[in-house]
Amino acid sequence: MNQKIARFLTEQRPATPCLVLDLDVVEKNYDALAQALPEARIYYAVKANPAPHILKLLNRLGSSFDCASVQEINMVLAAGANPADISYGNTIKKQSDIARAYRLGVRLYAFDSIGELDKIAAAAPGARVFCRILTSGEGAEWPLSLKFGCSPEMAKDLLLQAAGKGVVPFGVSFHVGSQQRDPGQWHHALATTAQLFRDLEAEGVELKMVNLGGGFATRYRNDIPSTEAYGHAIFEALRTHFGNRIPETIVEPGRSMVGNAGVIETEVVLIAQKGGEDDRRWVYLDVGKFGGLAETMDEAIQYTIECVDANNQGYTGKPERVILAGPSCDSADVLYEKADYRLPADLEIGDRLRILATGAYTTTYASIGFNGFPPLEEHYI
Ligand SMILES: *Cc1c(COP(=O)(O)O)cnc(C)c1O
Repeated sequence: MNQKIARFLTEQRPATPCLVLDLDVVEKNYDALAQALPEARIYYAVKANPAPHILKLLNRLGSSFDCASVQEINMVLAAGANPADISYGNTIKKQSDIARAYRLGVRLYAFDSIGELDKIAAAAPGARVFCRILTSGEGAEWPLSLKFGCSPEMAKDLLLQAAGKGVVPFGVSFHVGSQQRDPGQWHHALATTAQLFRDLEAEGVELKMVNLGGGFATRYRNDIPSTEAYGHAIFEALRTHFGNRIPETIVEPGRSMVGNAGVIETEVVLIAQKGGEDDRRWVYLDVGKFGGLAETMDEAIQYTIECVDANNQGYTGKPERVILAGPSCDSADVLYEKADYRLPADLEIGDRLRILATGAYTTTYASIGFNGFPPLEEHYI
């Protein structure tokens, strides 16, 4: 447990549920990645947590930004960023939004289909474009495959067409899947990418940039590779596939930049049993799937959950298996039923719990008022 956050929670005792995020950890994460991949430019994936405090800090540290909407672009500009440091990385954009981004000065756009390429060509003449290719998403705990990207053959065809449409065929992107704990996955994607670079060069188009995506993991219940291990694996893969002609590279970390910087404190609203065979206790919290913990869908992301001050509060009961659920009136609002979660037998209604590494993909996933519950409170310290 992060000491700065623990102190804040003890001293301030903010209303729950709330996220408390330590900005020093974000700075450490940024520095570690910059050091592990010194040649790559970092484009923070804003969707992971768009809080102004985070955007301002990262802008000060020299980060660029990957945005998915005009609203995110505006937030990044409001934090002081230069439009030249923004990538409009969503492959699904309205043409009117592309035009708005272009007017705001954004000149780098993603696409993965002819329909999207045509929209960019119409609304952002002269812009640089990169084509996203499909990856398997294998090994990722929160895969993104299939919805985004196209086959390498199609990417080749589209990038060849781009120049004729008045935009600059600039590069190739991929995303190996979020919470990707296998750094070897970049090896496969880069093999495909390098082949694409060669195929296009043979046709007279020289690509300049590889967008290595996000996917760097945050530590939840399982161990993860170090930032250096990711950097090493990626650099080796670049060397293997591009030899001494490594192109410009960018990375788009979201989760790994902010995940471990945040803790959600929550209160136990009810502890109940159902009778019958299964005697596990149901522990209902004041935060659930609609309060920000959407990534518990299919129990994909398994957060570490701790009792507050377990020792001082003197829990003496033995840890027993529980089912964890949120407070809303939707039966989908169960957090963990299959995964093995244990809490002390003497945990009581009104006690507080801490859900660790919840700085990414929580605040913006919280509903604006399902069942009247307000969005997740946020404290940046
Ligand atoms: C979500 C997203 C990211 C960030 O992914 P993480 O796994 O959180 O690092 C990066 N790039 C694109 C295009 C994304 O959609």
